[in-house]
Amino acid sequence: ERAKYDGVSFLAFSEELASAMFGRYELLKELREAILNDGIEAYFQPKMNLKDNTLVGFEALARWRSKDGTFIPPDQFIPLAESSGLIDKLDQQMVRESCKAINALKKRGISVPISVNVAGSEIIRPDYFDEFNALLAEEDIPYEMIELEITESQFIEEKSYINTHLSALQALGVGINIDDFGTGYSSLAYLSTLSVSTIKIDHSFVWRMEESDKDWKILKMIVELGNSLGFNVIAEGIETEQQKCHLLSLGCDYGQGYLLARPMSLKKVLDWL
Ligand code: C2E
Ligand code: MG
Ligand code: MG
Ligand code: MG
Repeated sequence: ERAKYDGVSFLAFSEELASAMFGRYELLKELREAILNDGIEAYFQPKMNLKDNTLVGFEALARWRSKDGTFIPPDQFIPLAESSGLIDKLDQQMVRESCKAINALKKRGISVPISVNVAGSEIIRPDYFDEFNALLAEEDIPYEMIELEITESQFIEEKSYINTHLSALQALGVGINIDDFGTGYSSLAYLSTLSVSTIKIDHSFVWRMEESDKDWKILKMIVELGNSLGFNVIAEGIETEQQKCHLLSLGCDYGQGYLLARPMSLKKVLDWL
């Protein structure tokens, strides 16, 4: 209940508010513990060539199983990690796990790059570059084997800073993916100036393309533009054979989605291969 006192409004302390705050605090405490003790696991989702069903890479996705055994979805803990300064540590761990996975795959004769998601706030940190380098050196991984995924909206926010740092990384051979393409501000002009190798079309277009003529046309335009600018174009969230056929007919050669393969632990990946 709100009470007015000297013209200032106060929110009376309620039990619901207390438990919401306590819940968040508890979750944050557990998350911190998990991140500091390597309790976040990397799962890997295959990226496929849609034309011949061959493997072209993996994306590393963070998985957190809390103390009581339940999985907490990234959409809940990633924002929490971002707002509490824990995201750097988490993402470093994902790079480390990915480097280990690259070497495990190499032993099986498979050599495809793994992409990791990074927050825009990280890339612009002055230390990012050195830390990234050190992580790759630990496992002796060449730059071409690790790619970075950064969402379109984060690209725009700190555009010039992010791009300076990304172009340095790209010059070394690190592939840069624009994630969730089509959901940010999608200024087409920036595509010519950003250091990018891959466009990942957001799943929302894939899911709506069959019902919405407009989404179909936007998707078609993104694929054509991406292809003609020389980017790799990957569609996210492919769940049906029909979506896959449509994408192929539009000239989209690469995809990710439950139809093709789910995100898996490294152990499962080695079985799946
Ligand atoms: P994203 O990078 O766009 O990842 C794609 C998401 O779509 C993943 O969700 C993946 O599991 C899911 N997905 C893939 N194929 C399908 C499909 O066919 N159908 C459906 N319904 N979903 C599919 P996830 O793992 O829950 O991750 C959500 C988001 O959290 C990611 O979106 C990414 O932005 C963020 N995230 C995940 N792991 C990390 C991480 O290690 N670091 C950072 N900074 N962000 C991460
Ligand atoms: Mg991603
Ligand atoms: Mg995405
Ligand atoms: Mg996403």
